[in-house]
Parts: sequence; structure tokens; C-alpha cells
Amino acid sequence: MADKPGKVYLIGAGPGDPGLLTLKAKTCIEQADVVVYDFLASPSLLAYASKDAQLIYVGKKGGDHTLTQDKINQLLKDKAALGLNVARLKGGDPFVFGRGAEEAQELLSAGVAYEVIPGVTSAISAPAYAGIPVTHRDHTSFVSFITGHEDPKKEQSRMQWDIFARSDATLVFLMGVKNLENIVTQLIAHGKPANTPVALVRWGTTPLQQTVTGTLDTIVTKVRQAKLKSPAVIVVGHVVSLRRELAWFDKTPLFGKKIVITRARAQASGLKQELTRLGAHCIEIPTIRIKAPADNTPVMDAISRIQAYDWLVFTSVNGVKHFFDTLFGMGKDVRILGHLKFACIGPVTKQRLADFGIISDILPDTFRAESVIEAFSQAEIQGKNVLLPRAKKARTILPEELSKMGATVDEVTAYETVLDKEAGPTLIELLKKKQIDAVTFTSSSTVSNFMSLLSLNQAPGLLKNITIASIGPITSDTARSFGLEPAIEADPFTINGLVDGLVAYYKKEKTP
Ligand code: SAH
Repeated sequence: MADKPGKVYLIGAGPGDPGLLTLKAKTCIEQADVVVYDFLASPSLLAYASKDAQLIYVGKKGGDHTLTQDKINQLLKDKAALGLNVARLKGGDPFVFGRGAEEAQELLSAGVAYEVIPGVTSAISAPAYAGIPVTHRDHTSFVSFITGHEDPKKEQSRMQWDIFARSDATLVFLMGVKNLENIVTQLIAHGKPANTPVALVRWGTTPLQQTVTGTLDTIVTKVRQAKLKSPAVIVVGHVVSLRRELAWFDKTPLFGKKIVITRARAQASGLKQELTRLGAHCIEIPTIRIKAPADNTPVMDAISRIQAYDWLVFTSVNGVKHFFDTLFGMGKDVRILGHLKFACIGPVTKQRLADFGIISDILPDTFRAESVIEAFSQAEIQGKNVLLPRAKKARTILPEELSKMGATVDEVTAYETVLDKEAGPTLIELLKKKQIDAVTFTSSSTVSNFMSLLSLNQAPGLLKNITIASIGPITSDTARSFGLEPAIEADPFTINGLVDGLVAYYKKEKTP
């Protein structure tokens, strides 16, 4: 036994949209030694865990339990006994059909301290994202949350069908998809009008959300036709009719679009966040990985000789990051850079530099020769020493142009990009199953690396009918060289331009 016992936090992880996690839950995940999570908790929440935390998946998909409830209870008790703080993440709210109460009772009887952090339950939020309020003064005076999957071991059913059928309550069934036919039959048999509106909302609050509506007498057929499966909530009642007027999430500009992001994982988050906010389902197929250079001495040497330089020029956020990582790693701080002038290519690089408290003096927008010449023309670069920390094997235009203008340029490798083929099989599988609508390319190398994940004779067939979105003309040309014609080209050539291009494209598609 540990000196100080650990505590278990029974946390509601919300219904799927990671933004619906409470602030208290987030803090708790950040501070936990162990995170225990199951099928319905959004995996993106695990990113809040500390990198030393132990992450344990305990399953629970329909009947398939990776760990039985007894084993889960034991796990929570064992970890707490070791003095560890445990974040037990449960989908939705832990006390709404989540067996959170059973876990709390177990902990109580074992003398383990616990706290409950309520979450946004799917019972309310999935309907809300489908434009269905569970109450409305004109339609209903109360709402019931009902299990659609009563414990089969129970001898006598507790389901009060006559009460459900007689009242004007909104009925929200959880875990009921497999039992839908029985639920509908019971409600009609106990006198609920057959034309009562019904909706099923699957994967509510996520970009995979799917809604099927009908009435008690049509819903079974409609759900079968739509092949809608678990997990879904079933909403029965007049409030369902408000969806026609109040639906909003389905109307986001990229709703339901399955869009591939090919940037390196560490860089993809801005694009992903923005597309997700607009309703898209983002599939990350990183094709490159950024790593520190095999030999970092050139950067370290340059930093030791920093007084000899006049200009520091960055061409990417990775260059900025790795330069400062090295500088801080050498026990130095930004004061050694005080005498320098700075240039950054592109606004995002400038922003990254600003994170370190430095404002770029000049800002060419692209690598094109004209851009560079124009930006540096006022800079009196003649005879000056320029340090250029950037990727191994980067394009030569910039150092060439600066040398022509009379500067002495030292290029040092601050990072390397290496091919990441890990996602190849997943990509091919998704393309075969037609689970991808669009692919985004943010540089020429993402195009060639992406294509290297597919075999050459397979690619044309797999990519037929896939919308290609490119960040700018150079990337588009590379795509064309592989036989891919971009339907979307960003303008301006930035991530925001790319997002706007996708929105405009799908808007046009919707309004023929
Ligand atoms: N504690 C959870 C419910 C767990 S029971 C909560 O408060 O939401 C599991 C059931 O919850 C599923 O069978 C399904 O009916 C429902 N559910 C959970 N997440 C859902 C989601 N994102 N969309 C629709 N239904 C969901």
C-alpha cells in the first residue's frame, strides 16, 4: 500500500464533441496518473493527459467488453491503492446509464476516495445537435430518460409502458437501437398514437452524426433503410417535429464531409480544428514526420557564433521551433538575439516567431524570387551575414537570391522531414470503402508522399471521384504531375485560404 492513497475521479467525458468536456474534467485529466477510458469517450481527450500518464482502454462496445465490469472496478481500486490518481472517463454523464454509480459504490465499500464530475449527457446533447429540444413549453411538460436495453436478468420488467404511452412526455431511450421494434410496438400497443414523431440520432455531436426521423409506425422501416446502427438515442414526442425548423449542425458548411489531412501530425491541428468546426470529419493521414536533424552541431555552432550574424531568416514554423529548442537546450535565452534583424516567410511563420516574443522585421509572403527580392530590397542586405536555419534539402531560391543581393548566407539544417508510411494501409482501406470525399495537400511534398502510399497502378482507380484541394499553384502543379487535377486551389495560398476554398466548393455543389 502507498503512504497516501490515490483518488478516483468518475468523469463525464461528454457525448463526442471534444469541446463539450467540462473545464473541471479537463484539469482532472491533465493531473491524473492513470486514465481509464472506454468506447464512447472521445479519443482526442486523451491528448490532455500528461505524457507520463498510463492510458488504459477498457472497451465496451455493445456486448463486447474488453474488461468486465468486475475487472474495471478492481482496476480502479488497485490503481488507487498504489497511491495513483485515476481519471475514469465515461461517455456522456457518468450517472446517466453509465454504471458510474456502481463504480462509486464499489469504491466506497473498498474505502477508496472518489469524486464525480458530471458530463454533458448524450440524452440531451445528441437531440440538441439534431435541432431537437427535449422540452418546449408548447409541446411537452416533462422528459424521461429510459433504458432501451433492460437488464435481461431482471425477473419483472420495470418498464411502465402504459405511463410512457399515456403522457405527453418526451421519451429519450438510450441503448435502444437493437430493441427499436419492441419499443415502438409496446408504445403503440399501450395507446400512443402511431403518428407520434420519432428521431434516432447516431454519433450525436460528432461529424459522423446521422439522424433519421419518422413516426412510430414508419421509423422501423426508415432506420432499416438507412442502415442506422448503435450508438444512437431514440427520441419520441412532438418536440421531434421542431427539427425541421431548428436543425443547425447538419447545416454547417462541411457537415458530413470526410476530408483527409496530409500534414505532419504535429502541424495538422490548426487545419483539423477549423474543418471540424465547420462540420467536417477529418481523417489524419500524416505523410511526413518532422524530426530533429541527425547532427545538430551546425545549429549549435551557429548559435555559439550568433554575434557574427546580422540577420536571422526563418522559412517555416518547424525551423523556428527547432532553432529555439536548440537555443534553450544550450541554456541560453532570447537576449542573445537582441542585435539581429529577422525575416519570416509567410504569416504563420511570423506568428510562431511572435510566440517567442520577437516581431519579424520583414515578411516575404512566398518563396518566389520576386517576393524575396521585393521584401529585402529596402533591407540593406549587402555585405551582411545571414543565418538561415531550415529543412534539410530545402529549395535553393532564397539563399541564391540573397547571395545575389550581396549577402553571405549560412544555411544550417534545423530539422528533417521523413516519409511516414504508417497510415498507408488505413488510407487504402478507406478509399476502397468510399469513406473519403476530399484530400487536402498543403505542400508539394505532401502530394508526392501521399502518392507513395498508393501503388501506381492502383492510384487512378482509388482516387477517381475524390476532390483534390491544394494550397497553391506549386502544389497544384505537383498534383497534376501525378495525374490529379485539383478542384480547389487556395487563394490566398494559406491554410485559411484552403478552408475557404473547401467551403465555397461544397456550397456550390449544394446549390446546383
Ligand atoms: N452515460 C452516457 C450513456 C451511456 S449508455 C451518457 O450520459 O450519454 C450508452 C448509450 O448512450 C448508447 O447506446 C447511446 O444510446 C447513447 N449515446 C452515447 N453517446 C452517444 C452519441 N454520441 N450519440 C448518440 N447516442 C449516444
